[in-house]
Amino acid sequence: MTNEKIGTDDGAMTRRHALATVASAGVLLGAVPAVAREEGPMAGSSRRFDRYDVVVVGGGPAGLSAALVLGRACLEVLVCDSGKGRNAPAAGVHGFLTQDGTPPAELRRIGREQLRPYEVDFHEGAVVDARKTEGGFEITLENAQVVACRKLILATGMVDVLPEIPGLRELWGTGVIHCPYCHGWEHRGQPWAVLVPPEEAVEASTLLLGWSPHLTLLTNGPSRLTPKDQAWLKEHAVEVVEGRVERLEGDGGRLRAIRLEDGRRLEREVLFVRTQLRQSTDLPKRLNCALVADGPKAGMVRTDPFGATSVEGLYVVGDASDAGVPSVASAVAEGSIAAAGASRTFFTEDARRPAGDGPVRRK
Ligand SMILES: Cc1cc2nc3c(=O)[nH]c(=O)nc-3n(C[C@H](O)[C@H](O)[C@H](O)COP(=O)(O)OP(=O)(O)OC[C@H]3O[C@@H](n4cnc5c(N)ncnc54)[C@H](O)[C@@H]3O)c2cc1C
Repeated sequence: MTNEKIGTDDGAMTRRHALATVASAGVLLGAVPAVAREEGPMAGSSRRFDRYDVVVVGGGPAGLSAALVLGRACLEVLVCDSGKGRNAPAAGVHGFLTQDGTPPAELRRIGREQLRPYEVDFHEGAVVDARKTEGGFEITLENAQVVACRKLILATGMVDVLPEIPGLRELWGTGVIHCPYCHGWEHRGQPWAVLVPPEEAVEASTLLLGWSPHLTLLTNGPSRLTPKDQAWLKEHAVEVVEGRVERLEGDGGRLRAIRLEDGRRLEREVLFVRTQLRQSTDLPKRLNCALVADGPKAGMVRTDPFGATSVEGLYVVGDASDAGVPSVASAVAEGSIAAAGASRTFFTEDARRPAGDGPVRRK
């Protein structure tokens, strides 16, 4: 909990302090007032309030970025995070300016550190339910505590559904990769194996040849490549290996070889796979968000350019939304943009309230 401005030499008062002061004097603060509770259901933990201006669910790059902009907009924010970032298995975050190669956990630590001056609280744990109310939303934490907010931002990310091949999960994010922009440089010029559906073989090879000329396409069963695609692969020196993959061999996060059911052993440095993405939580469904039905963004929440969903006051950002691309840079941008959109709507609503029923003056 941060309330660092209270009692400072310049006598500055946080908005929370102002709200608590006014609330204790019995003044009505608006449709969903932020009421400070020094004691009560949230006491004894870092959560001391049961109402916030905005709750952000998800403390990855998208959620922390949203919290930063909201905190700097003088709003009271709760970030709830169950701590399972999508890129957690990777050694470093790549392609994100000023932090190229920073371990994912360290990026989050820096993000949280930079939130300290603002009115941003954290709850370490999952949000298990959320519902729309007249004045905003109510979210339920795992311990059944309920927190109210006026705007809700879901930054809950997506989960990769991995191909079911023994040994693959252990190498995920190191010897088995899904994104050349994230990991390709580290494997440039090396022998790559590629495991994608036949209809994506040419498209994937076209991309991956940018990083290595040594590609082996695994058909993982009888080949279903069209003659035209086979000719293209041959022309571009992409080796095609037919046969079902039995398991992967590796150690210390390094891929050593791919074992086929017929006994062959292919030594390769990296395996590129296509994963299926699914929402990491059913909160979008519980809140009746419209999802993308099919195509590469299937399952992602439909949003406008500000991250707004079909549900008023609800924003979805980062991998979970259909905006941008699934990357850290995009997640940070989406979080920032949605936070600006949400706070602007928040202030506009306040300004429309009759005098005396409006917000407490911010500094
Ligand atoms: C192996 C791998 C490596 C990658 N490497 C890179 C890279 O180098 N560069 C790059 O740009 N991108 C990379 N990516 C993509 C990157 O991880 C994502 O684009 C990025 O993490 C998206 O950020 P996010 O905040 O939307 O989601 P996440 O980072 O996945 O964070 C979502 C957070 O929400 C939490 N959460 C979910 N549900 C709930 C709930 N109900 N209650 C509370 N909390 C909840 C999760 O625990 C998690 O902490 C990689 C992806 C993978 C799989």
